Amino acid sequence: MSFEKLNLSPSILKALKAEGYTQPTPIQEQSIPVILERKDLLGCAQTGTGKTAAFALPILHLLDSDRTKQAARKEIRALILTPTRELAIQISESFEAYGKHTSLKHLVIFGGVSAFNQINSLRSGTDILVATPGRLLDLMAQKAINLQHIQLFVLDEADRMLDMGFINDVKKVIAKLPAKRQTLLFSATMPSEIAGLANSILRNPSKVEVTPVSSTAEKISQSVYPVDKKDKASLLLHLLDNKEMENILVFTRTKFGADKLAKLLNRANVSADAIHGNKSQNARQKALTNFKSGAIRVLVATDIAARGIDVEELKYVINFELPNQPETYVHRIGRTGRAGNSGTAISFCDLEEQEYLRDINKITSQTIPVVDNHPYFVVGRAMTHAPAKPAANKGKNAKRRPFRPKKKAFASN
Ligand code: AMP
Repeated sequence: MSFEKLNLSPSILKALKAEGYTQPTPIQEQSIPVILERKDLLGCAQTGTGKTAAFALPILHLLDSDRTKQAARKEIRALILTPTRELAIQISESFEAYGKHTSLKHLVIFGGVSAFNQINSLRSGTDILVATPGRLLDLMAQKAINLQHIQLFVLDEADRMLDMGFINDVKKVIAKLPAKRQTLLFSATMPSEIAGLANSILRNPSKVEVTPVSSTAEKISQSVYPVDKKDKASLLLHLLDNKEMENILVFTRTKFGADKLAKLLNRANVSADAIHGNKSQNARQKALTNFKSGAIRVLVATDIAARGIDVEELKYVINFELPNQPETYVHRIGRTGRAGNSGTAISFCDLEEQEYLRDINKITSQTIPVVDNHPYFVVGRAMTHAPAKPAANKGKNAKRRPFRPKKKAFASN
C-alpha cells in the first residue's frame, strides 16, 4: 500500500516524500480512509506506531480543501489535546513537517511557560491548535481561544490523561466544543473510564487497533554499556574499531551534542555527519543520502531529525545518550531490525541516566543486559552520590542502582 492510494493531496505527498516515508504504517492505513470520510474514530494505539501522522495527514488534507469563511478567517478548526508538553511539541512538529506545502497554520500551547507569546500568536489566527488541557482551559477562560468553529477534535493518549488526573479538564474542554464535529480518540489501553468517555463523545465510531510498539524490540539484540559521561566518545571510538560495524546510527539528546560528536568522529578519521532540527532541509537530506549510500559510516541524529530515518538493513543503533522519554528508546532502536532483519542496539548509560534506563526497562518489560567487559566500564559510581548517612538510606540507594556488577573488571580512566 502506498500513500498515493490513500488519496492524500499532492502537497502532503510531497512532504511525506521529504520525510522519507515510503508506506503507511498499519494505523495510518486503517485510520486515514476513515477520517477522510469524516467519520469518528476510536483508535487503540500508542506512541511509536505512526499514530500522529494517522490523524495529522487527513486533518491537513481536510482543512486544506476547506473553503468556508472560517477557513479564510483562520479560525481554529482542528484541536488536538494531548497530555504532555513534549507530546504537544512533537505533534506540532509533525504538523509542521507534513503541512509545510499547505497554507495551513498551526500553533502549540502548553503550560509551564509564559502565556504572553501564546496569546499573541493566537491573535493572528490559526487553523490547527495543539494543546495540553490546563493551558487550554486557562486561555479559554481569558477569552484568548474560541472553540466554536472546531470541525475536528483529537483526544490523544486518553489513558495517560486519565492517569495524570486530566480527565475532568478534558471533559470541561469537550463541553465547549460544537456538538457537530468529528472526534478522533486515541488510547493505548481502554480502561472503563476511557471506554465510557469514548461512548459519550464519539458517534458511531470506526475502531482501529494496532499492536504496541514494544514488540518491535524482539528482533533487536539490546545491551547497555555503563560508562562515565566523559568516556563516552572514547567508548564509541573503541566500538568503531570493529570494522564489521558498517553503518551506525548514533543518537544524542541535543543538536549541539550531535554536531560536536560528528566533528570529533571526523577528527578521528571516522566519516560522520549530523542531522538535527537546526540544519537546513538540504543539509539533512544530504547527510541522510550519504548515510544511506554508505558514503559516511556514522550518522549522528537527534530525535527530532530521526523522524523518517528509514535506512534499509541498518544493523546498528547506538544511544550515545539515553532518551528521557522511554517511548523514544523504542522508536530509536526500531530504526534497526526492520522488515524482519535483525539489529543491534547499544546504549551508553552514565550515572545520571540510570533513571531513564529504569523507565525503559519498565515500559519494554525487560532488563536490558549490561555489558561490563569493555575498557570504559564504570563501577560503583553511584557511591559518589551516597547520602551522608549511608546506612539509613542503604535500601533506597541500592534500589536506585540498576548496575550491580559483581567484579571490578575495569577501572574507568
Ligand atoms: P508516532 O507514533 O506518531 O510517535 O510516530 C513514531 C515514529 O514513526 C516517528 O518518528 C515518525 O516520524 C515515524 N513515522 C510515522 N509514520 C511513518 C511512516 N509511514 N514511515 C516511516 N516512519 C514513520
